[in-house]
Amino acid sequence: MEFQDVFTDLRKKAGFSQNEVADKLHVTRQAVSRWERGETVPEVETLQALSRLFGVSINTLLGSPRTLVCQSCGMLLSDDFLAREADGNFNEKYCKWCWADGHFTQDCTLEEMVEHCVPLMPLGQTEPEACRAYMRSLLPTLERWK
Ligand SMILES: [Zn+2]
Repeated sequence: MEFQDVFTDLRKKAGFSQNEVADKLHVTRQAVSRWERGETVPEVETLQALSRLFGVSINTLLGSPRTLVCQSCGMLLSDDFLAREADGNFNEKYCKWCWADGHFTQDCTLEEMVEHCVPLMPLGQTEPEACRAYMRSLLPTLERWK
């Protein structure tokens, strides 16, 4: 899916007309109509406003070109798991368990994060050593631990 399809879908599901979306975002109806015809893609600030309006991440609005992984614990991120900033915008780097209101939810070392994650992993109970080894190799590649 590309932006035009994602946007048109979200707009219709929310029950907004093109005019209503234009009013909410302070853009012209022609601009909205160009997005839906695939002629243009909105600027970053407008994408942010759309993200707030529809409650989906910018990555989702753009048709999910990137696979988002929490840069603190390594979990795969869908919009349901994304952290939010204090102003309500999504933070597309971290999950909501690692980041909230503009800071990390826990101040921990890499090794503490490994111990925190292992019991939550699918094989955490039966293969804790394998999970530990996996997390010890994964975490140093993430932004928080680099
Ligand atoms: Zn996380």
